[in-house]
Amino acid sequence: MVMPERTIENYLIDMDGVLVHEEHPIAGADTFIAGITAAGLGFLVLTNNSIYTARDLSARLSRSGLEIPPERIWTSALATALFLHTQRPGGSAYVVGEAGLTTALHDIGYVLSDSSPDYVVLGETRTYSFEAITRAVRLVRGGARFIATNPDPTGPSVEGLLPATGAVAAMITKATGVTPYFVGKPNPLMMRSALNTLSAHSETTVVIGDRMDTDVVAGLEAGMDTVLVLSGITTHADVERFPYRPTAVVDSIARVPVGRDVRTIDGALTPLAAAPRRPAAAATPDDAAPAATPRRRGAAITNAVTAFGRQPPAEATPTGQETPVPPRPQ
Ligand SMILES: [Mg+2]
Repeated sequence: MVMPERTIENYLIDMDGVLVHEEHPIAGADTFIAGITAAGLGFLVLTNNSIYTARDLSARLSRSGLEIPPERIWTSALATALFLHTQRPGGSAYVVGEAGLTTALHDIGYVLSDSSPDYVVLGETRTYSFEAITRAVRLVRGGARFIATNPDPTGPSVEGLLPATGAVAAMITKATGVTPYFVGKPNPLMMRSALNTLSAHSETTVVIGDRMDTDVVAGLEAGMDTVLVLSGITTHADVERFPYRPTAVVDSIARVPVGRDVRTIDGALTPLAAAPRRPAAAATPDDAAPAATPRRRGAAITNAVTAFGRQPPAEATPTGQETPVPPRPQ
């Protein structure tokens, strides 16, 4: 059966781990962006980071050698502002966050206030104050609705990991008993709002990301094909641990063909076929032996069905060969 090629018109591209590592560009990212731009395809660069405005991020990416106009950047702060605008236009909010978030809320006509606001909105910041957290706790206890830009418990920095929005949200939750509504990834709302911003359709849009638990699951739930790149936080062995799969797995964005159906990428690593049976450190002489015939046959079946974008049959999954372990903390 020949599978009809799917037309691709737009991309939603995660930023960290796909285009850049901190300040450093990932090889092939500039070529890919230039390629889709030249082909007249639409795209948005996505980030859960709500510290910076799109203009700030555009300038930072430019210093890394990537020319992305501000209107091509979609942050969790922008998604949060759009969400509040559609829910309660012209409302008020007490914000714990940085310019990326306060600017986004101002731009949709919100009033920032610490007196009986409609919402407490928590975003990423490097200058949390006890006073601001206390104010947020009192307002939430007093009836303000609690929104957070993203659930990430930690974030990266040059010096090491940092506590992020999810960790501070947990502190406010503990003090109030109120859990926030998180707008950023993995909430598919982040993807839906990006699609709406592009006037794009899910069937002709591809998500490219480096995390199974945010980019891939959110893209999947928003109805899009997903490409997992291994240039970021996820290793190939991690992929099989999740109860869902990306459409394709590739080493980096350099392997994603511009404007082409991602279900049949040449040289794509299929999620199941090449994954090791156990971590190398736990290998025994028995493990080092060539895989048994049933496993190889299973891998071949998996390859074939993956090419047709379907789930493998049950017998394609090796059984009794490994003890499942949960995904490692990321
Ligand atoms: Mg990422």
